[in-house]
Amino acid sequence: MTTQFKSLLQVLDYFKEESTCIAYLANSRWGETPCCPHCGNVGAYKTNRGYKCKAKECGKKFTVTTGTIFESTKISLRTWFAAMYLCTAHKKGISSLQLGRDLNVTQKTAWFLLHRIREMLANNQTEQLDGMVEIDETYVGGATKNKSNKKRRELKESGQQFVNKTGVVALVQRGGEVRTKVIYTQKPKIGDVLPIIQQHVSENALIITDCSNMYTNLKTNYNHETVNHGESEYVRGIFHTNTVEGFFGQLKRGIIGIYHYVSPKHLGAYCNEFSFRYNTRKVSDIERFEDAFKKCNNVRLTYEKLIS
Ligand SMILES: [Zn+2]
Repeated sequence: MTTQFKSLLQVLDYFKEESTCIAYLANSRWGETPCCPHCGNVGAYKTNRGYKCKAKECGKKFTVTTGTIFESTKISLRTWFAAMYLCTAHKKGISSLQLGRDLNVTQKTAWFLLHRIREMLANNQTEQLDGMVEIDETYVGGATKNKSNKKRRELKESGQQFVNKTGVVALVQRGGEVRTKVIYTQKPKIGDVLPIIQQHVSENALIITDCSNMYTNLKTNYNHETVNHGESEYVRGIFHTNTVEGFFGQLKRGIIGIYHYVSPKHLGAYCNEFSFRYNTRKVSDIERFEDAFKKCNNVRLTYEKLIS
């Protein structure tokens, strides 16, 4: 599919009719021939409301939204598409309050839309990061929010500055992608991060971290260089962690500036959103919007699950 849009206005103009949205989604998911979301068979009969699988042993009915984030919602596809554009195009994200106003839906609906979109944007890539990979962790939210500088200092001195904060580990390949994982511990140990590293980083990669004790034993399994922030040695030639810190900067500015507060339960979803934008940073807003459609299959997130 070649792109035909250059701006949000063109997107909104083009997707005026629900039938246009349906045709676009069908083409984006299947190309010319529909694929049954129940059994995977390629080929289906057209029915009044959608399709019926051609495979004899299946024969189930489905529509263009079956098995996608758009399934079983009363929200029009036109509204969904606009929400996807706004969520993926804004560099720091968009709040449910703002999205609700932009689309003339309730904040509750906007909040649900955004969470389904974040679920969709999760990176399910199994390809491992390679080359130079910077790894670091940061802490988001928590007790020092809305506290005076004096109070913050007191908390820091008493070692409580991390109370109620939630950890995020990020792994960034230089010039490549980021992967993130939320860790629910204030004092992570190598056992908390090693499985994440083993899942996402190739054995041949060169890993760069700070001097945190947690990473000390990485050398036994990986090529590993460290940067000593304590001795203000932030940049030692090519060995630095500026890339991963830059990503954390974007994540934190977005969370503080746009979302204000993110509960530990939903932090992973926000990380999905920021990671998707980071990983598609080299493409235009329109290409990013169209990329997002490739991820809309097989994502289920009900409202009940979301608020449980
Ligand atoms: Zn089927």
